[in-house]
Amino acid sequence: MTRPYNFSPGPAALPEAVLQRCAAEMLDWRGSGMGVMEMSHRGKEFLAIHAAAKQHIRDLLQVPDDVHILFLQGGALAENAIVPMNLSQGGEVDVVVTGSWSVKSRAEARCYADVHTAASNEADGHTTLPPAATWRLREGAAYVHVCSNETIHGVEMHELPDLKALGCDAPLVADISSHMASRPIDWSRLGLAFGGAQKNVGPAGVTLVFVRDHLLGRALDICPSAFDFKTVAANDSMFNTPPTWAIYVTGLVFEWLHGVEYAGLRGLAAVERRNADKAALLYRFIDGSGGFYRNPVAADARSRMNVPFFLQDERLNEPFLAEAKSRGLLQLKGHKSVGGMRASLYNAMPLEGVQALVDHMKDFAARHG
Ligand SMILES: *Cc1c(COP(=O)(O)O)cnc(C)c1O
Repeated sequence: MTRPYNFSPGPAALPEAVLQRCAAEMLDWRGSGMGVMEMSHRGKEFLAIHAAAKQHIRDLLQVPDDVHILFLQGGALAENAIVPMNLSQGGEVDVVVTGSWSVKSRAEARCYADVHTAASNEADGHTTLPPAATWRLREGAAYVHVCSNETIHGVEMHELPDLKALGCDAPLVADISSHMASRPIDWSRLGLAFGGAQKNVGPAGVTLVFVRDHLLGRALDICPSAFDFKTVAANDSMFNTPPTWAIYVTGLVFEWLHGVEYAGLRGLAAVERRNADKAALLYRFIDGSGGFYRNPVAADARSRMNVPFFLQDERLNEPFLAEAKSRGLLQLKGHKSVGGMRASLYNAMPLEGVQALVDHMKDFAARHG
């Protein structure tokens, strides 16, 4: 039995092999007599799971030694408060607005810091990327925030900005929720990155935070201890009970990513190439559909992970979704703030799933065009 192809933006599809492994280990993790959800987080079994998860993440993403990998809770939205509490020191924060998520980050940071919009694509409905050379960055900013993949608008920075080249010494903070592990990360450009696992690397419940050691110890007095990166790092993410199950599954996903093979490549290089091919297949079809389907995002800003698209005749939205579902293509409805459709093509989506979507779109257009 093959499972349907699930295009959910998040919580999103997980690799089937990982789900099978979870099922096999559900009642008894490797002869321990316990399921992972039933273990003490301080016991040797869970400590091993935790350490392995961290190592798989560090190896796959080539996380440098001076970057801590922290497991927190609260999702990326909580990080919108936790990051300014940890890094702003109540000073200046510059935010680059590229879609709904960076708009939210900017609003939340205003509770803790003097926030300035360094650049914004609001005027074009979040469909372009403001070139880094045009960003108005402030001399004294504590950090610069970007969302490197806007999940709702489908806008992705294919390269992280090089702030030093722009004459800016502030650390870069990136919300990488929806493209984490979809491509390599240029750590030389980053001070901190965060993201919920549920888009691309695991289940809901754990937030991954990558933070440079030298950025610890700056938290405001009002910062809860459980969210002070220094405290969390000093306790190896065990200051309080961590989301054990979500960490376990995330570890399995990263282990699975190491083994991905595609186009003669392996691991993250294979994952990246496959994601590029998947996205190219769908965008090429949309652009060649004679206007029946349309994606409004500028070519150089198009996300590989989240592809919003619109049918020319919006009255066909419901039949499009109903027929897609009957063909085993799930969760294609667009975000309510944008409308239309959205296909999320995270790591667990195989090329065949995108081909099946394109086949449906082609067939649907032929019957309704
Ligand atoms: C989903 C998402 C969020 C919100 O994540 P939560 O886990 O719901 O807090 C923030 N930023 C981006 C880019 C996202 O995709």
